[in-house]
Amino acid sequence: MLTDYHVHLRPDEDDTPPERFFTDDNVAGYRAAAAAAGVAELGISEHIHRFAQALEIWRHPFWVEQAVDDLDAYCEFLASADLKVGIEADYIAGAEERIEAVLAARPFDYVIGSVHFVGDAAIDQDRWDVWDAEGHDPDRVWSRYFEQLTAAAASGLFDVLAHPDLVKVWGPGRPGPARDPRYFWEPAVEAIAAAGVAVEVSTAGLRKPVEEIYPAAGFAQLCVEAGVPFTLSSDAHLPEHVGYAYDEAVGFMTGLGIDRLCVFSGRRRSMEPLG
Ligand SMILES: [Zn+2]
Ligand SMILES: [Zn+2]
Repeated sequence: MLTDYHVHLRPDEDDTPPERFFTDDNVAGYRAAAAAAGVAELGISEHIHRFAQALEIWRHPFWVEQAVDDLDAYCEFLASADLKVGIEADYIAGAEERIEAVLAARPFDYVIGSVHFVGDAAIDQDRWDVWDAEGHDPDRVWSRYFEQLTAAAASGLFDVLAHPDLVKVWGPGRPGPARDPRYFWEPAVEAIAAAGVAVEVSTAGLRKPVEEIYPAAGFAQLCVEAGVPFTLSSDAHLPEHVGYAYDEAVGFMTGLGIDRLCVFSGRRRSMEPLG
């Protein structure tokens, strides 16, 4: 079986109002792409910062600017379209109870946890750039990112961790630390295994400057050794991204000995054969 759970119906750009993208027509395009890619189960995981209710959690200026949609209307739309009801929720240190309150009040099939920010600084956007905030020191940026990922795993708030080594997104433009990356990965993988959270293999990295699957093979190998379960997702923001480069991703996973995939319903996980 193949699934694609980390999927956005709305592109990230400005002028992408929900009424233009949360439509049956748009969903039909995603479904057709899923069928063509052999994806049997499709779920949507819009960014939490798109929803007004996210401001109950955090009031970063980016969120204040973006948080306009209604979270309950979104959940109802997905359920009525017979799509798995997911969300991509940021881990915000110190806001755990508020995150839990927003999530627990909705009928999600799964919650994907992400680290896009450490403190107020952003990992994968130019505004509020963490590289500026940390003096362009790769050791400091990577340490801060993986500390936050470790805390996200340990929080128990999430079913899946998205793009687990997102910090590499900029590729050669912002090279990582010189030391062995396992120094940064190992504490995170330990927390992931202890919390029983799944890790996402994401083909989105292939479309970014890094041009690599998230996570790196070495990170995924540590997860395999620790018995961590996996999902596979495209992080699509357009129909043509659904199931993006899945042949390569399935090869990547089977090469590491991964032969099963997580399936979620009502935030309960079961395992299905991969492929
Ligand atoms: Zn993300
Ligand atoms: Zn995403």
